[in-house]
Amino acid sequence: MRVLKFGGSSLASVQRFAEVATIVQQQSSTDSICLVLSAPQGVTNTLVELTDLAYLGSDFAPLLQQLAQRYQQLLADAAAQFATVELTAARQVVEQQLQQLNAQLTGISLLRHCPDHIKAQLLGLGEQFSVALMVALLKAADIAAQALDAVQLVKSSGDYLNATADISASEQTLQSAVASSSARVYVIAGFVSSNAQGETCLLGRNGSDYSGAIVAASLRADACEIWTDVDGVYSADPRQVKNAKLIDRLSYDEAMELSYFGAKVLHPKTIGPLARYQIPCYIKNTLNPSAPGTCIDNDGEGDALVKGISSLEHLTLITVSGPGLKGVVGMASRVFASMARSQISVSLITQSSSEFSISFCVPQLHLSAAKRALQQEFELELQTGLLRPLNIQSDMAIVSLVGDGMRQHQGVAAKFFASLAQARVNVVAIAQDSSERSISAVIEQAACKNAVKVCHENFFSHIPSIDIFLVGCGVVGSELLQQIHRQQAFLHSRQVKLTVYGIANSKNLLLQPDGIDLQHWAEQLSGAKHQFSLPVLADFVRQQHLTNPVLVDCTSAEAVAGQYADFLAAGFHVVTPNKKANTASYSYYQKLRQLAQQNRRRFLYETTVGAGLPVIDTLQGLLNAGDELLAFEGILSGSLSYIFGELEAGSSLSDVTNKARDKGFTEPDPRDDLSGMDVARKLLILAREAGMTLELSDVEVEAVLPAGFATDCSTEAFLAQLPQLDAEFAKRIAQAKAEGKVLRYIGEIVDGKCKVAIKALQVDHPLAKVKDGENALAIHTRYYQPIPFVLRGYGAGAAVTSAGVFSDLMRTLGWQQQV
Ligand code: ADP
Ligand code: ASP
Ligand code: MG
Repeated sequence: MRVLKFGGSSLASVQRFAEVATIVQQQSSTDSICLVLSAPQGVTNTLVELTDLAYLGSDFAPLLQQLAQRYQQLLADAAAQFATVELTAARQVVEQQLQQLNAQLTGISLLRHCPDHIKAQLLGLGEQFSVALMVALLKAADIAAQALDAVQLVKSSGDYLNATADISASEQTLQSAVASSSARVYVIAGFVSSNAQGETCLLGRNGSDYSGAIVAASLRADACEIWTDVDGVYSADPRQVKNAKLIDRLSYDEAMELSYFGAKVLHPKTIGPLARYQIPCYIKNTLNPSAPGTCIDNDGEGDALVKGISSLEHLTLITVSGPGLKGVVGMASRVFASMARSQISVSLITQSSSEFSISFCVPQLHLSAAKRALQQEFELELQTGLLRPLNIQSDMAIVSLVGDGMRQHQGVAAKFFASLAQARVNVVAIAQDSSERSISAVIEQAACKNAVKVCHENFFSHIPSIDIFLVGCGVVGSELLQQIHRQQAFLHSRQVKLTVYGIANSKNLLLQPDGIDLQHWAEQLSGAKHQFSLPVLADFVRQQHLTNPVLVDCTSAEAVAGQYADFLAAGFHVVTPNKKANTASYSYYQKLRQLAQQNRRRFLYETTVGAGLPVIDTLQGLLNAGDELLAFEGILSGSLSYIFGELEAGSSLSDVTNKARDKGFTEPDPRDDLSGMDVARKLLILAREAGMTLELSDVEVEAVLPAGFATDCSTEAFLAQLPQLDAEFAKRIAQAKAEGKVLRYIGEIVDGKCKVAIKALQVDHPLAKVKDGENALAIHTRYYQPIPFVLRGYGAGAAVTSAGVFSDLMRTLGWQQQV
């Protein structure tokens, strides 16, 4: 005998009923079958709503009418699809049910009272309809099916709405029912049962799985198959986690833990009866019957360390604490006895090792009852201060990691908690069962989905992700998008998922939940509706459960740089070539570093000095290794490197400035380069990096242009006036040459002071050779002396700057991969 349980999702329409009939037909040729059926999808919920409406005295007639229509529709569809189907009995069941519902709901409404034993009778009606319709359909398919009465035959005890199976009583009733019949196929309702007095009792919401197990255990079936709408048990709820993995084998214990901690695919009580009689359980998909499904039995260990992650929501964490708990025998048992008396199930318990407090989770729904029970039980202790007032934390969830293999391994818990930290989730309480088969953490419910997703990513999908939001799509921003587009596939093959979810300019913000198509971003951006703002981006990140969001700022705007603090606090990494944040006030500079550390996020700005040259990283590396910056000199501006090189070769200042501008070496207004402020900012960043507490105003700047030269005019007017300076510059160059020197625009740090100026250097000075847009940095440190550490290469240009930003982006993965 095999027991096949079909859930509501497998019985949503006549089409589905027919598919079930086909499965039964195939299996009944080799085995006798007992079908256990749920109500058609949604019917139990409607019955719950109806009793609630009646209880509140509200008008339930329209909803009852809807239920009647749903039943009639199913019958009409059955008649239409199966010409020979005989529906008289099913029609009678419907008629009786509607009469019963009308009468009992009217009674409930009048009395404003709904005793649990009546509620149990009403909520279990949907299953009985499924049986009547299925028997009719099976008969139409020439399968002689016999209905069994679950209320009479499945025996239970305890709560009317959440009863526990009495297997030995059910064994007798079910075995004798089957023995007295010669049918090959039996059909029985799930969810319903009766107690020793014969009163109807339900087996808890979602309890038809449990019915399947009770029937299988009572009949000592060869197998229990749970047919549902997914291919089996997954490593996490496939509705929540897109790339959840199908598990082919689970041990009974693993399945029990997973379902206990919220994997809805199995009712938590299902495994108990099956494990007791060693009956293998298969989870199968009605929509894909040929898929092998998940097998749950005692051999089901497999080699995976962690099999699955589940979550249980809508919980309250109650903490009982106070000196009265310490060393007093029996206090814990009084706490849990009071919960048991009130029929409240406790899902996780932790006790502090000092025995000063006990914390446990109960369903939020039962909070008032739990409080009442505890206050009654400990009235005296609470009054005399032996116990502190109860501490209640609502809206909590439990995230659990389950797997038999965890017990032979170290480091799983560490990885679990590192993952929760990575998801920026605060862990409120922790529990591990002594078999080390599961580890659970109590966290705030709002963070639950994200926590599951991050844990799943770390334990199951080895592809870490970088989730990019780019603001500023000028030369560097657009080049970066092109580079990302080119590299996405390569990086994916190297196990990194790089996705641009958002692109913003000063007007619009484009957001795409599946990532932006980087071939057509410009058209899409111009039609985008949003505007760049932290709340919009943070909302998006939350909704999409992104785990590694990065703000990439390719603007040079102070307004954007001023928001980095808020972005870091909201969980974004910040990557930027924009110098404005690091050259704002020193207190903001420090605040950014503190926030990054507190939030375990990275603030990366390698390209703010020397573009793609590895300046910041090298300096940080040296300082971390105990080195110290003694002095610095360098050519830090690509455009000024070009201009001074050309001046040396004989060009005039005005000519070379125009040429540099045409080549895109300068800022749109060349005065921004010639003012020396760009170099001053780079120098300040280096100085601060080396530990100096300086402000931008502390940097002494000698501009390339004389003070006050053509400041109040348009760029064009400025360029028109520039030839006035040609003679003066030609003279300075000639004078330097006569002394065997060349002019260079140098930034230097000497004796703790930063200075930017035009300097005349001997031709054999290392920086004298630097021109054509090249940058060079000579870093004198304690370790590097007397010969300094020198970095040299292109220090400007879209391609190298974007590549530097790209490499910073990759570094946001650094600690994520260590998890
Ligand atoms: P049925 O109506 O067949 O009883 P349920 O809705 O009760 O179906 O259970 C199946 C659902 O359980 C799936 O659709 C899935 O969303 C959910 N689920 C939760 N956790 C898991 C998991 N770990 N593996 C598979 N399904 C899961
Ligand atoms: N129909 C019941 C419910 O919805 C039992 C089940 O489907 O498992 O809770
Ligand atoms: Mg179910």
